[in-house]
Amino acid sequence: MSSYDVIVIGSGPGGYVCAIRCAQLGLKTACVEGRETLGGTCLNIGCIPSKALLHASHMLHEAEHNFAKMGLKGKSPSVDWPQMQAYKEDVISQNTKGIEFLFKKNKIDWLKGWGSIPEAGKVKVGDEVHEAKKIIIATGSEPSALPGIELDQKIVVDSEGALSLPKVPKKMVVIGAGVIGLELGSVYSRLGAEVQVIEYLDHVTPGMDAEISKVFQRTLKKQGISFTLGAAVQSVSTTKTKAKVTYKLRKNDAEETVDADVVLVATGRKPYTDGLGLEALGVKMSERGQIEIDDQYRTSVKNVFAIGDAVAGPMLAHKAEDEGIAAAEAAAGKHGHVNYNVIPGVIYTHPEVSSVGATEEQLKENGHAYKVGKFSFMGNGRAKANFAGEGFVKLLADAETDRILGAHIIGPMAGDLIHEVCVAMEFGASAQDLAMTCHAHPTYSEAVREAALACGDGAIHA
Ligand code: FAD
Repeated sequence: MSSYDVIVIGSGPGGYVCAIRCAQLGLKTACVEGRETLGGTCLNIGCIPSKALLHASHMLHEAEHNFAKMGLKGKSPSVDWPQMQAYKEDVISQNTKGIEFLFKKNKIDWLKGWGSIPEAGKVKVGDEVHEAKKIIIATGSEPSALPGIELDQKIVVDSEGALSLPKVPKKMVVIGAGVIGLELGSVYSRLGAEVQVIEYLDHVTPGMDAEISKVFQRTLKKQGISFTLGAAVQSVSTTKTKAKVTYKLRKNDAEETVDADVVLVATGRKPYTDGLGLEALGVKMSERGQIEIDDQYRTSVKNVFAIGDAVAGPMLAHKAEDEGIAAAEAAAGKHGHVNYNVIPGVIYTHPEVSSVGATEEQLKENGHAYKVGKFSFMGNGRAKANFAGEGFVKLLADAETDRILGAHIIGPMAGDLIHEVCVAMEFGASAQDLAMTCHAHPTYSEAVREAALACGDGAIHA
């Protein structure tokens, strides 16, 4: 038996970041992980492998659509799927090994195996029981199933199966028009699959600013993805090689079917806390299966904390990481803090989509008087040069004080551009503060400044 100041259960972005910060704060730390490699969903079967495939397929798209226009002619690339998979696996391996290196550097013990908490102050891994003054649960999430639909991870797959298909399917049906479904749908569409997205709601990407959501759907449609909205999937039946998806259109109850080589079920994720023994321990859970915590990540059981996808809030790696740092600080007797009003969200398609803060719909609902500054990437020289003029920046500011309330971007590098708005919001900046900041030319970020100018006397290049 070993004794620790802190044992973190789970090594995803929440858990590994938390363990590193605990060690930096001088706490003797161990991290339990049941997977073969560190890094959790994000590094093994989520953010990182999906971005590798998005990058590779985007390169193909550029070669097919834009190279010749720039005078780059010659042999055009074709898809070597096993090699693309090998590239993706190599990217995963580099990242997961990087976490192993950081654990060694920070003298964090990796307790290999699945952990449970037989009583407060104890963590059981395999046959061994370890003592811990503080326990931090960071066990993440798993895909939530659609009732009655069985996954075989060959023809009917979740996101994990979709990252490692044996070949590029001819026809793919994606159930659910959320971030994961649209990112992976984009990958296969660019690689030559016919992709149809079936969504229960009447719009894609629920919760997103409605104007961006509409433009985003239109853009993906132009790229060849088809959408069946307002449709409730009833069943998925399979033969040895094919699937048949039956759905009901909500407007008239008409039942329709579509055949596919692969069906990706991307209808959301739910917290994963199986096997931890939380019920017996007396940890309070919400009706949605999330571990309940207070503002210092403390569960209802003394000295047991929880973070990341296993608790409430957006299921995002960076939210989990920030909570990991804050919970480590709380466990070390300091005060942890995460500003939940400034957590960006990004969709890594091409063009990218990003957002932070309030949407117009939320501001309207709250009766908050606001102004909008918009700027199209068509007015941005760099974007035009790079065939990336599609999309716009939309900045929302308080009508009276000019304080920035939110930003929504669809366009090139939107996932990076959003951060200057995040920093501005952290500092309580006004749109004018952004507008008066000199931005280098020619950069995509000039579009953010122009949107800020549009909140005042007007954008220059509009
Ligand atoms: P996880 O990353 O889920 O890690 C939890 C770890 O705990 C796992 O490794 C698990 O094996 C381990 N574990 C569980 N129970 C036990 C136990 N009892 N004992 C030992 N170990 C245990 N988010 C983004 O921000 N950006 C993206 O681009 C993005 N892309 C995504 C793409 C896909 C396809 C998917 C599926 C998700 C994506 N996400 C993305 C979401 C992101 O992966 C999660 O929000 C993030 O991983 C949550 O981190 P976590 O630390 O809470 O949990």
